[in-house]
Amino acid sequence: MKETFRKRILVTGGAGFLGSHLCERLLAQGHDVLCVDNFYTGTKDNIAHLLDSPNFELMRHDVTFPLYVEVDEIYNLACPASPIHYQHDPVQTTKTSVHGAINMLGLAKRVRARIFQASTSEVYGDAHVHPQQEAYWGNVNPIGPRSCYDEGKRCAETLFMDYRRQHGLSIKIARIFNTYGPRMHPSDGRVISNFMMQALSGQPITVYGEGMQTRSFCYVDDMVDAFIRLMNTPDELTGPVNLGNPHELSMLDIARRIVALTGSSSEIVFKPLPLDDPWHRRPDIALARDALGWTPTTPLDEGLRRTAQHFRRVLEAAESRAAYSA
Ligand code: NAD
Ligand code: UDP
Ligand code: UDP
Repeated sequence: MKETFRKRILVTGGAGFLGSHLCERLLAQGHDVLCVDNFYTGTKDNIAHLLDSPNFELMRHDVTFPLYVEVDEIYNLACPASPIHYQHDPVQTTKTSVHGAINMLGLAKRVRARIFQASTSEVYGDAHVHPQQEAYWGNVNPIGPRSCYDEGKRCAETLFMDYRRQHGLSIKIARIFNTYGPRMHPSDGRVISNFMMQALSGQPITVYGEGMQTRSFCYVDDMVDAFIRLMNTPDELTGPVNLGNPHELSMLDIARRIVALTGSSSEIVFKPLPLDDPWHRRPDIALARDALGWTPTTPLDEGLRRTAQHFRRVLEAAESRAAYSA
């Protein structure tokens, strides 16, 4: 997408998986990017290649505290995203979603910046409607182990809509479905990173439950494309807008695909299903198609191949570090 002028853009959570790809893309479009991150789950490695760019600035900061900067646009991505990360310190997870949203909305209000919220398909919980449409209000347990994340993100959506109604802010809410690709954290416990690391290192592939639960996986480049398209829509489109790839498959399918694609000899083993694990998930992306002219284009096998290359490099780096220190 061609931009007509250069903007000062804040990306919170910019050192994370999605944030680092977004910073990269915005810089390539010629914008000034301010990446704010407290490195809770993200790393400097993810953005090391951007540090030399004169248009890139990195600030270590926790969004639960106020932030005073001058920017034209804000992408609010700061929040641990994988179940083991967000359940590690659930109170901090809720604070990041809720206090973080209040601070970033306060900032947007002061400088009259447009603001984008990285919401999630988790707002639908263990959905009774399939595929999930934006109009569905969800089926979320308010007191379970996933609630810190689900309810935090739901409250953030409420805050975004209220800042719009009360203060006339220009807001964009994206409900992001499972996304994968290079720079996923190798030990974040998410299914793609787990299966990749297990397959490439010859460990058993841990399928939870019977592996019949489903998810729909979107490649990161497609997702970042959708973020920028949504941000650049007219004020009237606030969202929420579902963003994801409607190609749905079971966890057993994905395990078999990753084993085949990596040429692994790993066996598949079955482990208990975590509490409140959603049974199925697939986005209805009619709104994104119509309003953004967007549809994911990266085929799953191609995305998985690129992701496998990344995890191979992660494993090689770990091996050479081990050899060096031996
Ligand atoms: P990630 O964990 O790689 O990135 C999150 C980033 O936020 C990290 O760099 C982390 O250090 C930073 N962060 C966390 N708490 C912070 C705080 N208090 N202050 C400042 N920085 C903080 O996760 P991701 O997959 O890149 O997810 C990015 C966003 O997208 C999250 O808001 C997540 O909820 C949302 N999302 C992701 C997916 C997905 O499949 N990846 C799906 C739905 C929603
Ligand atoms: N805030 C911020 N940066 C700014 C402006 C505000 O971090 O540039 C924070 C501020 O600390 C406040 C929050 O955003 O707690 C909400 O701001 P708002 O103006 O909406 O509310 P108020 O300041 O009246 O509580
Ligand atoms: N899962 C699995 N094995 C793993 C990790 C996850 O079978 O090693 C399952 C998990 O139970 C869930 C699905 O894969 O049904 C997706 O899990 P993930 O944590 O990636 O995302 P989320 O549950 O938040 O969609």
